Amino acid sequence: MSKSDSLVITCKAVVCWGMGEPVKVEEIQVEPPKSCEARIKTLYASVCHTDILLTNGFPIPAFPRVLGHEGVGVIESVGEEVTDLKEGDLVIPTFLGECQDCENCLSGKTNLCLKYPVPFSGLMPDGTSRMTARGQMLYHSFSCSTWSEYLVVDANYILKLDPSVNLHHASFLSCGFSTGFGAAWKEVGVEKGSSVAVLGLGAVGLGAIEGARMQGAAKIIGIDKNETKRTKGEAFGMTDFINPERDVHKSISKLVKELTGGMGVDYCFECTGVAPLVNEALQATKMGKGQTIVIGEGNHATVEINFLSLVFGGNLKGSIFGGLRAKTDLPIIIDKCKNKEIQLDELLTHEVRLEDIDKAFEQLKQPDCVKVLIKLCD
Ligand SMILES: [Zn+2]
Ligand SMILES: [Zn+2]
Repeated sequence: MSKSDSLVITCKAVVCWGMGEPVKVEEIQVEPPKSCEARIKTLYASVCHTDILLTNGFPIPAFPRVLGHEGVGVIESVGEEVTDLKEGDLVIPTFLGECQDCENCLSGKTNLCLKYPVPFSGLMPDGTSRMTARGQMLYHSFSCSTWSEYLVVDANYILKLDPSVNLHHASFLSCGFSTGFGAAWKEVGVEKGSSVAVLGLGAVGLGAIEGARMQGAAKIIGIDKNETKRTKGEAFGMTDFINPERDVHKSISKLVKELTGGMGVDYCFECTGVAPLVNEALQATKMGKGQTIVIGEGNHATVEINFLSLVFGGNLKGSIFGGLRAKTDLPIIIDKCKNKEIQLDELLTHEVRLEDIDKAFEQLKQPDCVKVLIKLCD
């Protein structure tokens, strides 16, 4: 047995073996980190809508795959080239990196670093995996796989955390909530006094509401077909609520216009990932100057857009992770959370242990569910 064989950890993880198949808790083997990598012991993870999409082959079918991209943990070991992390450090894995040196990082216009991109392949930057089960290679979920007791992550995709931060909330900040918050704050910079509509009040939508509130938006309209989301939206600063199921004869854009004197909103955030709603979001914005921001992920290749809405000055844009730069911007949100400027208690609605992951998928269907926390420690 070689030295590195002796350092392999056998642990539990949630694996999806094939497209559309139910997930299974399996014993897997996690290799030690290579020179520029770290192995993390997961403390808490959480469930994101994107995890469900991954089981259905989004963004590319890569199976078998260990799921989970939201989480927080401690460094178990590091490779010899890693100098800024050490055993015992509290960290969150990020699914994109920030080199601060490539054309995109230097542009200040996008968070999509060219050197450390989102690893859609489900493999480490060197094109290999650090996990196996029953002798078979397992794909990661983007840069990580947080629904595993241990995971190996390239050190450029790891953010060190202040230990005083609430660890449940830190997991939520690694994707969904931050995506919405970042979209309002960084991606478009909502102006004071402006009007905003948010389609879909899950963690992403609630983040967009909180970001718009912080930026000083005067009117924040939350839209969700689930009535229980009204109180959630209000907790984060929503001023008006539309339940489109209560008025099925009117389109969402019409309902938004009715609430804004026929004008539409300055900013509309599409957080559901439902293809036809992208067009509704576009049509709910002000002619000539409204902005539509697509941040909800869906498993569809194309969306249909009303041509005239674009010709009349409609602005349609999308972003990954709300335009947040992993090293520059995310720590600012974490600090706001630590200082209680942002309160995330309302997000946490359900908890499961890793071995009960089946329950999490059931809980997600419940109307009051926003975030399911997966506990890997006590
Ligand atoms: Zn870069
Ligand atoms: Zn996510």
